Amino acid sequence: MAVLVTGGLGYIGSHTVVELINNGYEVVIVDDLSNSERFILKNIEEITGKKPFFYPFDLRRRELLTQVFDAHQIEGCINFAASKAVGESQIKPVDYYENNLFTLINILQEFKERGISNFIFSSSCTVYGQAEKMPITENTPLKLPESVYGKTKQMGEEILIDFAKAYQRKISLLRYFNPIGAHPSGKLGELPIGVPNNLVPYVMQTAVGIREKLNIWGDDYDTADGTPIRDYIYVVDLAKAHVSALKKLMESNEQTVIDIFNLGAGKGSSVLEVVKAFETANDVKVPYQICPRREGDITIAYADVTKAERELHWKSETPLEESLRTAWKWQQYLESKTV
Ligand code: UDP
Repeated sequence: MAVLVTGGLGYIGSHTVVELINNGYEVVIVDDLSNSERFILKNIEEITGKKPFFYPFDLRRRELLTQVFDAHQIEGCINFAASKAVGESQIKPVDYYENNLFTLINILQEFKERGISNFIFSSSCTVYGQAEKMPITENTPLKLPESVYGKTKQMGEEILIDFAKAYQRKISLLRYFNPIGAHPSGKLGELPIGVPNNLVPYVMQTAVGIREKLNIWGDDYDTADGTPIRDYIYVVDLAKAHVSALKKLMESNEQTVIDIFNLGAGKGSSVLEVVKAFETANDVKVPYQICPRREGDITIAYADVTKAERELHWKSETPLEESLRTAWKWQQYLESKTV
């Protein structure tokens, strides 16, 4: 029996593959390498001592996906494969809907036809928008996301809930807050294409000298230091939550399971706090300038993680400094590869 991990060479996917292998699962990766690199497969093998099955193709190609399901006894799927750049999704909405939703539907068709259950979906805290109250629980009302990317996540959730109800299957919707950091080995991490949008990759590239200065998008928010607050969760902790969520589905005696979990560290940090934590953890300076607000940014978001702690027997405990040390180790590994 094997677990299909789509997007398994990507940032969160690759860390999850390692945790699955460490927990004795056989892993089958499908990844089209559109936002990942082949050397990650080798690094997964170096870390775990096991080589997962790997198929490089675009999941919109249903006939190739069918062949994978014919070749392996798939007992569950963790679906990471998706386009994820918020800004790009506004410019290319049709491509985002096609890529993120066709992919999902193709896998669900195979699941439906073959009677397979256990589907884990990468969702996002973006489905809550700017929530009225902090921390954000799973019962916090959803808001229609502003970005097309966010809409694909909300639509994906709806599709999966209908799938679970109609065919009596087990699904888990995991709403990530802000994943950061890298594998402690320094061999897996985030690989931004072009200029990074996310805070931590931009901090890394500034610290290493690729970028001149970090642009802090606004310091006039209604927070203690004026910069926005997010819930930064260490990627290895996040990866472990996937294994727990999968185990829970597989062990459940219910026919239909619809799980929803917020996955965060359960505490908020401001942009300036992240920059300072990085400087302290690595003894490296990050030059920055304060810029106008970025369109669409919310003021504050952090998770109530009590449901995940209770039901998944899981907790994210890695301190911010520690995650930022691993991120720096990964950045240096990337530098050494390009030299
Ligand atoms: N941010 C920033 N400069 C950057 C990238 C991000 O000041 O170059 C801020 C951004 O305004 C937000 C926080 O960092 O308050 C996290 O942004 P990110 O894009 O990483 O995540 P998201 O906005 O999706 O929570």
